[in-house]
Amino acid sequence: MEEPGTPRSVGNNLDPWYSNYAERTAGLSASEVRALFAVASRPEVVSLAGGMPNVSALPHDVITDSIARVMREQGATALQYGSGAGQPVLREQILEVMALEGIRGTVDNVVTTVGSQQALDLVTKLFIDPGDVILAEAPSYVGAIGVFRSYQASVVHVAMDDDGLIPDALRQTIAQLRGQGRRIKFLYTIPNFHNPAGITLSAERRPEILEICRANEILVVEDNPYGLLYFDHPAPDALRSIDDEGVIYLGSFSKTLAPGFRVGWVLAPHAIREKLILAAESAILSPSAFSQLTVAEYLKTADWKGQIDTFRGVYHERKKAMVSALAEYLPDLTWTDPNGGFYVWLSLPDQLDSKQMLPRAVKELVAFTPGTAFFADGRGRHAMRLSFCHPTPENIRVGIRRLATVINGEIDL
Ligand code: PMP
Repeated sequence: MEEPGTPRSVGNNLDPWYSNYAERTAGLSASEVRALFAVASRPEVVSLAGGMPNVSALPHDVITDSIARVMREQGATALQYGSGAGQPVLREQILEVMALEGIRGTVDNVVTTVGSQQALDLVTKLFIDPGDVILAEAPSYVGAIGVFRSYQASVVHVAMDDDGLIPDALRQTIAQLRGQGRRIKFLYTIPNFHNPAGITLSAERRPEILEICRANEILVVEDNPYGLLYFDHPAPDALRSIDDEGVIYLGSFSKTLAPGFRVGWVLAPHAIREKLILAAESAILSPSAFSQLTVAEYLKTADWKGQIDTFRGVYHERKKAMVSALAEYLPDLTWTDPNGGFYVWLSLPDQLDSKQMLPRAVKELVAFTPGTAFFADGRGRHAMRLSFCHPTPENIRVGIRRLATVINGEIDL
């Protein structure tokens, strides 16, 4: 037994193991706004903060039937360990899903994962040594930045405009980093209905971005969970449909079906796919056979394309509610008007700081995600992400009205 009061660690004596952690653990920082989000989940708060799909728009009875059939007809397989690459039947169906976005692949090169979040983790694990550079849009998906940090990558943001990633900015960033002797491992991009920016990479820019990466031997990691959730017209064909050697494609059933199944996938060039399977097996042995077979059964027996249309209608209506409320209550600000997905990016005047504003907003019963969450370099204070996926159109209007009260109050201070 140690004497009471004996210091067992330097720096943080609340955690006796503080000095034992691996260096990379320092990259696992909790979001600064996590505590506030707990408050924001109270029912009286309109949360424009999370990215939770509207699962109540799903036919729960149809899913219940799928689960029952899986258990009746394939119970022994569903309850067993499976292959590290995933269930073959589902991987076949994933090819059909991807074909809707112009992608042709082979079953062999599809690996199912525990959501696309695990795919991000595996790809980063395969390619990143501490200090390696990952290029990402400015801003980028908060969950990807978290994974990249946990592998001690250095995330360098590349500017976007209304047509997505800017090719010249990409060229310049690469040249600058190369000039400094940095090793750039991949470009992480969300070309469709970007999280958080709500922007889509134009069809004209797609081959150009790929060409820049090819010329510089930089792999492209294309993350596309929202591609099928378009509003007026489909997104341009996937980057992977233009280049099958230089692109790792990540897909997910979280937004087109439900995140609770935790089923996503990777389509990777053959050599990478082999390593992905080894890394996946060492992390989780195999993804859930039960979840995968249930998703496969749903795809086989339900009108999954019709359900995606239903989702598109629901989210389109909510997006319209959000942008019309912004036009009414915050006419002097600027925001993106997405053609799909879940998110609007709101820019604030320079004197306003979205992170500082959040506690006041929560007091006014509205929540958002401060822009700083989406940058690895501290930028983003003068912006915020507003999600329209979860609240009803009426609540979205109420939320934006409350937000306007907070923003206008700050401007008047
Ligand atoms: N990528 C992006 C851009 C996302 O928005 C999300 C979820 N919000 C994910 C990946 C992870 O999704 P999942 O693991 O549920 O497939």
